[in-house]
Amino acid sequence: MSNTLHALLAPHPADAPALGAPERPWLTHGGLRALTEQTLAALHGAGIGRGDRVAIVLPNGPEMASAFVTIAQGAVTAPLNPSYRVDEFDFYLQDLKAKAIVLPEGYDGPALEAAGRHGLVILRLGFDPAQPAGSFTLVAEGQATGTPDTAMAGPDDIALILHTSGTTSRPKIVPLLQRNIAASAHHIGTSLALTPADRCLNVMPLFHIHGLVAAVSSSLAAGASIWCAPGFDALRFFGWLDTARPTWYTAVPTMHQAILTRAERNSDILGRLQLRLIRSSSASLPPQVMVQLSKTFACPVIESYGMTEAAHQMTTNPLPPRAQKPGSVGVAGGPEVRIAHEVEDTLLPMDATGEVVISGPNVTPGYEANEDANRKNFFEADGKRWFRTGDQGTFDPEGYLNLTGRLKEIINRGGEKISPLEVDAVLMDHPSVVQVVTFALPHPKLGEDVAAAVVLREGATGTEREIRDFAATRLADFKVPRKVVILEEIPKGATGKLQRIGLAEKLGLVTE
Ligand code: ATP
Ligand code: MG
Repeated sequence: MSNTLHALLAPHPADAPALGAPERPWLTHGGLRALTEQTLAALHGAGIGRGDRVAIVLPNGPEMASAFVTIAQGAVTAPLNPSYRVDEFDFYLQDLKAKAIVLPEGYDGPALEAAGRHGLVILRLGFDPAQPAGSFTLVAEGQATGTPDTAMAGPDDIALILHTSGTTSRPKIVPLLQRNIAASAHHIGTSLALTPADRCLNVMPLFHIHGLVAAVSSSLAAGASIWCAPGFDALRFFGWLDTARPTWYTAVPTMHQAILTRAERNSDILGRLQLRLIRSSSASLPPQVMVQLSKTFACPVIESYGMTEAAHQMTTNPLPPRAQKPGSVGVAGGPEVRIAHEVEDTLLPMDATGEVVISGPNVTPGYEANEDANRKNFFEADGKRWFRTGDQGTFDPEGYLNLTGRLKEIINRGGEKISPLEVDAVLMDHPSVVQVVTFALPHPKLGEDVAAAVVLREGATGTEREIRDFAATRLADFKVPRKVVILEEIPKGATGKLQRIGLAEKLGLVTE
């Protein structure tokens, strides 16, 4: 198995399509290799080489994808969310120890101001829309001191630095090595049986592991192609499907839900599509959504379980003829996955409920500059080094993993532990509810109580009382949400995830 991005991208036929985008000719795999040479020459010319950290701040699209895969072959990439404000860029650039930053030609927003504060080399990315998707030129403003190392990155060099999504705590810095990314891209390609005939439609943000590895790296490593939309947009999604004619796409559950609301009025396009599969990851997919999605698109829906520290995929539902189990995140799909004691450093039997831990070639060597988190999250057992995912789960007798929640999100109601996922699942069964997030509501005596935010189906009526009564028919009293808030939209994090932690504060439910 190849263990660098460079080796993964080398063997594909030069004329096979690699990157596409709206109204752009295709960039071929040969074109991508030529672009890599030009890009690395431009970096070296600016004094940037192997081991140097390059922040990338670009709008979502084919240039973001190609900047990542080309620069990562000879330097360290650190894609950042382009919607950050000056102080956020300032913080991340400092945290990352970036030496250079890639910015669009003509851009003079907050990332430029922050880059100026750190004296970074600015690499201006320009492209011609008549040229193949993802092709670009880099022009340096400034020059790094010293002589750059012009060797290609090796298996143990860092390829990508990301921060975790910050769902449960301040984002942590995760360095991912070349061999971590290569292993993960390979595992995803194998579990989805990707071939050069496959085409992915990418709508995922490319400053997050899901898009960078599950969509871009896995496709290119398989010699397949990827068509890059400018980001997620439910209104334009069906038009993109019709133009790109992908064989699959991958997204987070909130996106799938938004797509389903537009399906009926796009039934003509649906009839023309030939999707081989739809992939869902990064947050739990309600079984109802999985079933409806599979029926609407007439293809299997593959739910996978991923995280930044694992270069994305850890488990995945298998392809047919094996079963896709709604509500389960599937079977091991990359690293070895076990259940561990939540406090003691011991592995438990597979059918125990405990913390999900992983070990394998796609796992980060450790957080950067956070010894405390490394001490808490890694341990040795059975001769292997295990990483604690922070998620709680258990395997069924057929080896499918069921997640029961995030340890930090488990609601502790006066000592009774309640899985928010269990309450979510019950409320999703209410005929008027299309989206739900159960969360902890601070309580003066119990510590925490259960609350839920719900979004109702278009045109549906439903009251807080009625939804609570419904929950009470299915759940023990202590699990029934004391408060149900009906919202037009539930607040999401930057990667499209619904956020339980801090939701009570955000919704103004905390008084003190
Ligand atoms: P932070 O670590 O900063 O709190 P985060 O964990 O949300 O943020 P990511 O690495 O983007 O950052 O997300 C990984 C987490 O997402 C997993 O630990 C798990 O809790 C959740 N997750 C991913 N896929 C699924 C899935 N299919 N079902 C349920 N949860 C999932
Ligand atoms: Mg996490």
